[in-house]
Amino acid sequence: MINGIKPLERSLRWGMVGGGGTSQIGYIHRSAALRDGTFSLLAGAFDIDAQRGRLFGQSLGIAAERCYPDYATLFREEAARVDGIEAVSIATPNNTHFAICQAALAAGLHVVCEKPLCFTVEEAQALVELSQKQHKIIGVTYGYAGHQLILQARQMIADGLLGEIRIINMQFAHGFHAAAVELDNPSTRWRVDPRFVGPSYVLGDLATHPLFLAETMVPQLKVKRLMCSRQSFVKTRAPLEDNAYVLMEYDNGAVGSLWCSAVNSGSMHGQKVRVVGEKASLEWWDEQPNQLRFEVQGEPVRILERGMPYLDPIALADDRIGGGHSEGLFEAWSNLYRRFALAMDATDRRDRNFLADFWYPDVAAGTMGVRWVENCVRSADAGASWVEFR
Ligand code: NAD
Repeated sequence: MINGIKPLERSLRWGMVGGGGTSQIGYIHRSAALRDGTFSLLAGAFDIDAQRGRLFGQSLGIAAERCYPDYATLFREEAARVDGIEAVSIATPNNTHFAICQAALAAGLHVVCEKPLCFTVEEAQALVELSQKQHKIIGVTYGYAGHQLILQARQMIADGLLGEIRIINMQFAHGFHAAAVELDNPSTRWRVDPRFVGPSYVLGDLATHPLFLAETMVPQLKVKRLMCSRQSFVKTRAPLEDNAYVLMEYDNGAVGSLWCSAVNSGSMHGQKVRVVGEKASLEWWDEQPNQLRFEVQGEPVRILERGMPYLDPIALADDRIGGGHSEGLFEAWSNLYRRFALAMDATDRRDRNFLADFWYPDVAAGTMGVRWVENCVRSADAGASWVEFR
């Protein structure tokens, strides 16, 4: 159980790029990183608007001279300080992730990067190589994966409670962009512009979340081939899709489907993962993250509740308040940031034994997301053809 005792003897000196006062995602990064005392926020280049970013950083209590106008200055000036930052989080629009990640690693920083990590597999591989060369980690904020019942599902599947896995149904289908809201909303505008998001909208923005949840639950399954059909229901978004269906075949003969959509009118989030085995199924829904459905063929449905003693120790390790009390996305992200800190510390100590079994959304997970989107786009653009996964 997590009870506020710091898991490390010190706090990692931490900075942010993006995540400014007007951003959607900046606050949850800060809340999660600061929750357990594993990070101290000491510097940042928080905003594309330098002056706004400086004022925002100061309002967070950061020294004026450490609120920088841009990420290049942040990395250069901090590297010159004996108490400079050791880690940085990148929470900017997607087209900037690759360059900022590269610059951060080159400056000797550990990185937490928003998804998608970058736009091409070549870029992802370059980041993998640079992170290895620099002995620094890249964590990716697939935030929902920090919910405790995801690791419970992983353990139950590993323990064989479902039998051989046959089917994985995934979806992340909300309705918030059923109309052209980007006309009035700057945070949505860049999401439907290829200059900022590359080759996809909902495949990269939404689908990689349940894809990673399924990978976490069933890590042994590898995608063999897939087929993707994508649509732009709000016509001005073409060629970017606001809805897509993906069918997948895995190497063990299992099949999967993923529906991602921003035009699922009336739906809040609609993110679900259902794993079907030969004996039983598991289902998790991000709008009810404290419950996991366990359905054994021929028996009444069981709803497993977060924080209860019947859960596996792997799920209870991240419990913060005990069963019955609801935890949410902020706790899930805190669990991930705690893991990022432990991975950074172990990497600095070259502790290979610790890292060998230590799970967190890492650069391989980020690379898989990029690779999967690339394959989906290749399939969709070839008229929704089956393509070998490469
Ligand atoms: P946003 O448009 O609301 O905010 C972007 C922020 O980045 C703003 O503060 C902007 O001023 C700043 N910025 C832009 N370019 C910059 C630069 N070059 N240097 C410094 N700051 C810069 O976007 P958002 O919704 O917060 O999304 C940011 C990232 O987070 C995206 O990659 C998005 O995909 C990701 N995101 C992830 C999740 C998740 O669940 N993991 C959820 C939402 C968004």
